[in-house]
Amino acid sequence: MQINDVKMDLSAVSATQYPKEGLPEIALAGRSNVGKSSLINTLIQRKSFARTSSTPGKTQTLNFYEVNQKLYLVDVPGYGYAKVSKKRRAEFGTMIEEYLTTRKVLKGIIILVDGRHAPSEDDVSMYQFVSYYKIPTLIVATKMDKVKKNQWNKTVAVVTKTLQINQRDQLQLFSSETKFGREKVWQWINEHL
Ligand code: GDP
Repeated sequence: MQINDVKMDLSAVSATQYPKEGLPEIALAGRSNVGKSSLINTLIQRKSFARTSSTPGKTQTLNFYEVNQKLYLVDVPGYGYAKVSKKRRAEFGTMIEEYLTTRKVLKGIIILVDGRHAPSEDDVSMYQFVSYYKIPTLIVATKMDKVKKNQWNKTVAVVTKTLQINQRDQLQLFSSETKFGREKVWQWINEHL
C-alpha cells in the first residue's frame, strides 16, 4: 500500500480521548520488545515514527496514527512487563480492555508474537481475550529473518497450535529487517476496514 500521509494524532488513556472522526481502526498489540514499533514503522514506511523499545514502567498510552486520512493504526501498550507493579498492570489491563471491548470503529487487531519462540502465556491470554470478543485477528510472527527458512513451517505449526488459532483468523510471518510480509499485512488490514 502506498503511504501518502501519516499523522501521530493523539494519545489516550480513556474513552473520552479517543479520536472522534469515526475512521476505522486497527489495533496492534504484543509483548514489549516483540517488534511492534518496528512493524508500525515498516507499514507506514517511516524510520522511527513509532518509538521503538518503549521503557517498561513509564506512562503507557494508546497511540493513534492516522494513515492516508483513511484509517487509524492504534498502538496498544506492550503487555507482560514483569517489572511493573500489580496495580500498574491492572491499570494497563483496564485501559486496553476498555478500548477493545467498547470501541465501535475497531475493525480488527494484529497480535504480534516472536517468531523465534513459542507464544507466551501472555500471548495466549491476549488471543483468548480478543477471540472471546470476536475481534477479527491477524497473528503476526515477527523477526522471521532470524529463523532459518527451513524452520518456517515449524513456526507456523507451533504458533497455530499454541494459540489455537481459529478458522476466522490468520497468521502471517513477518520481518521488519527484510520487509517480508508487509504487503500481506496491508492486504489483511484493507480487507477488514
Ligand atoms: P516493541 O517494544 O514491540 O515496540 O519492539 P521494537 O520494535 O522496539 O523492537 C525491539 C527490538 O527488536 C529492537 O532492537 C528491534 O531492532 C528488534 N526487531 C524488531 N523487529 C525485528 C525484526 O523483524 N528482525 C530483527 N532481526 N529484529 C527486529
